[in-house]
Amino acid sequence: MMLEALRSIVQAVNAAGDLQSALDIIVSRIAEVMDTEVCTVYLRDPDTKRLIFMANQGLNPELIGKVSLGPDEGLVGLVARREEPVNLDHAEKHPNFLFLPGIGEEHYHSFLGAPIIHQRSVMGVLVVQQKDSRRFDEDEEAFLVTMSAQLAGVIAHARATGSINTAQNTVGATASFKGIAGATGVAIGQAAVVVPMAELHSVPRRQCDDVAAELGAFTAALDAVRSDIRALSDKLLTQLPADEHALFDVYLRIMDDGAWVAEVVAKIEGGEWAQGALSQVMSSHIRAFEMMEDTYFKERATDIKDLGRRVLSYLQANDIEPPDYPERTILVGEELTASMLGEVPREKLVGMVSVRGSSNSHVAILARAMGIPTVMGASDLPYTQIENANLIVDGYSGYVHYNPTPEVYEHFRSVSEEDHALNQGLEALRDLPSETLDGHRMPLWVNTGLMADVARSLDRGAEGVGLYRTEIPFLLRERFPSEEEQRVIYREQLLAFAPLPVTMRTLDIGGDKALPYFPIEEENPFLGWRGIRVTLDHPEIFLVQVRAMLKASEGLNNLRIMLPMISNVQEVDEALELVRRAYEELLEDGWDINLPPIGVMVEVPAAVYQARQLARRVDFLSVGSNDLTQYLLAVDRNNTRVADLYHAYHPAVLNSLQQVVDAAHAEGKPVGICGELAGDPAAALILMAMGYDMLSMNDNSLLRVKAVIRSCRFEDLQSLLDGVMLVDTADEVKAQLRKAMINIGMERLLQQTSGGV
Ligand code: PEP
Ligand code: MG
Repeated sequence: MMLEALRSIVQAVNAAGDLQSALDIIVSRIAEVMDTEVCTVYLRDPDTKRLIFMANQGLNPELIGKVSLGPDEGLVGLVARREEPVNLDHAEKHPNFLFLPGIGEEHYHSFLGAPIIHQRSVMGVLVVQQKDSRRFDEDEEAFLVTMSAQLAGVIAHARATGSINTAQNTVGATASFKGIAGATGVAIGQAAVVVPMAELHSVPRRQCDDVAAELGAFTAALDAVRSDIRALSDKLLTQLPADEHALFDVYLRIMDDGAWVAEVVAKIEGGEWAQGALSQVMSSHIRAFEMMEDTYFKERATDIKDLGRRVLSYLQANDIEPPDYPERTILVGEELTASMLGEVPREKLVGMVSVRGSSNSHVAILARAMGIPTVMGASDLPYTQIENANLIVDGYSGYVHYNPTPEVYEHFRSVSEEDHALNQGLEALRDLPSETLDGHRMPLWVNTGLMADVARSLDRGAEGVGLYRTEIPFLLRERFPSEEEQRVIYREQLLAFAPLPVTMRTLDIGGDKALPYFPIEEENPFLGWRGIRVTLDHPEIFLVQVRAMLKASEGLNNLRIMLPMISNVQEVDEALELVRRAYEELLEDGWDINLPPIGVMVEVPAAVYQARQLARRVDFLSVGSNDLTQYLLAVDRNNTRVADLYHAYHPAVLNSLQQVVDAAHAEGKPVGICGELAGDPAAALILMAMGYDMLSMNDNSLLRVKAVIRSCRFEDLQSLLDGVMLVDTADEVKAQLRKAMINIGMERLLQQTSGGV
């Protein structure tokens, strides 16, 4: 019963069009469900910090929005300061009680207030009051606390959307949204919102130029869906019991119901494009049905959603016009993926914003490799409403500025110019060796995946490829590439770098890297069928890939093969066996090739503990610190909510990194690191001291890391490392590295991203 009430209130609030109606629904429904005479929401003004009387049931309605309390004033201020509920039978006797004249509170004796907390900060206070002087019981208190925890996110979202709406109606007004720094740099441009196929809720609003064409497309899509359903219905006529079969009649009846069709038509005639009109009308009907108490009607919401998606997918399929990307496109989406990124012409793509994800998501890694300033996890951004808007992406702090004022715009233009100047300055290091002031060499390799990386990497003096992510060419296709297609792609990489070594990783899909043509649906994809686990289960995929790599290496001999996600030695033995098999078959076929060095990625804690056993079996180890960090700290690298727990500087991670070096060297094998940490200039100092034989990073970091290496003395690094290994927290590690960077005059190269802190 409680749960039902809670759900129905949250749904009603979600359906509200704007912040004020959301708050009005909250106070009236809570007063009703808890049977109290008064219910109020106070919201904290982000600038003044005052708690404003925003919505109310039972007190003087004229004062709504007009009175407020100081951050510490009254019982409401007390709830906000303590960040916990306050439950009183005689409110007026409490020393913090403050009488607000005219509001009409004097008759109410009992008071229960709960803080509204979103992402650790108090957004406001939810209060119920009653005339009888009594303490609210435990159930009531728990209900209000639960309610407020659920509503916090909804209110934060409504508030963010409200700021956009206000800005849209007010010339020059602006709004800013906080996310996570994904790829450094500043981008100034216009939003292009990308939509996954057939997702009603994420269709952006968009003006159409040709109303008649949109109406035509809509009617055609309706006809197509109608005939699909009839066909499906005929096909299943004999296979389904009559009851179930009746569902198709329900579908057809919904399709023929003129009311919603007329609403969509009216919206299109009002200038909205067909997809937007459909999505808005369908979404409001779905919400209306979902809010009904009756389970029969609730189920209808699912049917309507299904139909809406069918119509939408026809509209999307017929929308063959390639989207018109602005000259300076900032790609915005609920969850950006590598393939969405691939669709924008490179010269137009200046920045990216993803509502979900974190700086360790693969799309963010790709963005860093391509040098595209990116903000991830901008969870409150009302992304469907900002198509074409002017945006600034601040990839340093993780803020997105909507419709920036001329001052904000000027500020970021100058930051962008400074960045440019810094990069130009670094260019001078291109042909200089990567060695410390006292002559210690530190080979810098690059991570690649796109052909575009290659030219830039060579241009910046990379000494080899430490990680070629073979899944990237796989991601940009519509089916598995054939052996010959793969051979051509790999040959291109090997040729471009020869005689420098190129480390090709065997296919690493699963986790957050799904191939559109090979979907893997799992509850916990990062603990599931990923990397080597997939390819050992599909030797045909593995063997084809390895054969393509080996063939590509003929006459060049600069290939190295690396195995991802190894969590036990059998996987290595099996993979080695397959590689040898492919090699021998090719020799028999007359190919003139050598067996390449083979290595293992250490990216699972188990591999840290068995690093020696692994090293014994192969030619080299390479630490994938991105995954190693997520698995050691139990923090999903994609999850916005826990993004601030993801610290590659965490002492547990640093200890593991040291352990892997020691194990590899004890077996006489070289060891590198190819996670994002390797490209963090400050981290390079301690990785060098730990004994890493090679650092592999995206090419944009190369000159920055080289600049740091050329400014320090290897002799001094051991004591820096000793100091770092003694502290207990990532923050202390960060502080020490910061100090060291200042000491060597490299403060300007401190970065916020890969340390995660
Ligand atoms: C890693 O996990 O550190 C790594 C280099 O692999 P990826 O980021 O592609 O998972
Ligand atoms: Mg990995």
